[in-house]
Amino acid sequence: MCCAVSLVTSHHPPYFFRAVDSPTHLLVPPLSSSLLEKLGRTLPIKGRHRKTVIVHATSNVRRNPNIAKLQAGYLFPEINRIKMKHLEENPDAKIISLGIGDTTEPIPQPITKAMAAAAENLGTLDGYARYGGYGAEQGQTLLREKLAERFYADVNIQASDIFVSDGSKCDISRLQMMFGSNRRVAVQDPSYPAYVDSSVMIGNTEMYDHASKQYGKIVYLACSSENDFFPNLSLAKDAELIFFCSPNNPTGAAATRDQLIELVRHAKETGSIIIYDAAYAIYISNPNCPKTIFEIPGADECCIETCSFSKYAGFTGLRLGWTVVPDKLKFADGSLVKNDWNRLMCTSFNGASNIAQAGGMACLSDEGMNAMSELVSFYKENAAILKNTFEEMGYTVYGGTDAPYIWVSFDGRDSWEIFTEVLTKCDIVVTPGSGFGPAGDGFIRCSAFGHRENIIEAAHRLKESFSRS
Ligand code: PLP
Repeated sequence: MCCAVSLVTSHHPPYFFRAVDSPTHLLVPPLSSSLLEKLGRTLPIKGRHRKTVIVHATSNVRRNPNIAKLQAGYLFPEINRIKMKHLEENPDAKIISLGIGDTTEPIPQPITKAMAAAAENLGTLDGYARYGGYGAEQGQTLLREKLAERFYADVNIQASDIFVSDGSKCDISRLQMMFGSNRRVAVQDPSYPAYVDSSVMIGNTEMYDHASKQYGKIVYLACSSENDFFPNLSLAKDAELIFFCSPNNPTGAAATRDQLIELVRHAKETGSIIIYDAAYAIYISNPNCPKTIFEIPGADECCIETCSFSKYAGFTGLRLGWTVVPDKLKFADGSLVKNDWNRLMCTSFNGASNIAQAGGMACLSDEGMNAMSELVSFYKENAAILKNTFEEMGYTVYGGTDAPYIWVSFDGRDSWEIFTEVLTKCDIVVTPGSGFGPAGDGFIRCSAFGHRENIIEAAHRLKESFSRS
């Protein structure tokens, strides 16, 4: 917005202006006196200098300094921006996305039918009386019970520990809100960007350091093939919160039982809390890799687990997930973490969409479980195609067997450079490894979410342009 204003304070910043046609005061911090001289017209009024200048009006509200610390855009919108620019410059390009990690296959019919019926039901007096209006902030009781039965039957987790939500990413930010600022946080490096970005936003970090490509105060736990993608936890000895994701996005590594025993032991010894992201647990086939952290004895005293229907059943746009906060998990003062989580959810969330919850219930029926399993197998076949392609091309590849992601090594090359080369030569969008943390540089992540013909076509294009053998 531009407006004509008059100066109402002296010539030292900050400058206050009054809009010519209204009494509103505007704060304009960055203008220097010399710039004002250039822009303005001086009119002496009662001993004061009145200047008429054109300025951009601002509010008086200071920008959140924590949000101001964030670098560029969130990774995926940034990738999308570059993709759109490429399309603008190459309107005929047939872009294939192996980038963002969004599901592509339709939600299985038994699940969509249940949601359609739920929607119809809301259009009736009786149906609305039973299912309409605000639901429980914690989720429908039947859904919480079904989640407990399907995923936590053999571990010490009850339906009342499960909080249904609009997805894991939202819960990650709400968990940050619950713990509040000035926490000492550790993350796997590389990892899903939401852990770091939400830590920055809540005020858990210092400024970004361009040399190390890290935010001050966060402990980055490097995970690479050298440590079998499991970090040196002694580096996190002072951390209060440790974000841990298995199967990992982006490396595709699923932690073994022994590794998770070590993780839980570390948390119990140091008194930290693990925020365990199991968004891809359903992709695990290795029987030696637990599907929930609560398979590990003692985890219910030091872990929160977050999970989602997004990659289980194509609910990325529909939005449904859950977070488990066990009864035994306590703050230093002995109070229950679960009580604060419940309080927070009641204040900041009004319950997941009742239609999405009907979909969640359908996912957990026998038919729904089979349909999810087929969907996951389909994406895992895609993963196998991509993994084999890169291996045949002479690359070292990780992941892809217990996760829908392939982590491809380009031997230390700048990963944004590889990303650009793949986009330019093949019209394929991948994700640069460094977008997940500094230890991700030298890698790209390829997502196995795609229609089969696109995955096959992508494999063909990659072979043509990037084969080493
Ligand atoms: N956690 C991880 C590791 C993810 O990769 C994603 C999405 O890509 C999420 C959480 C977000 O899940 P949701 O769609 O439930 O917000």
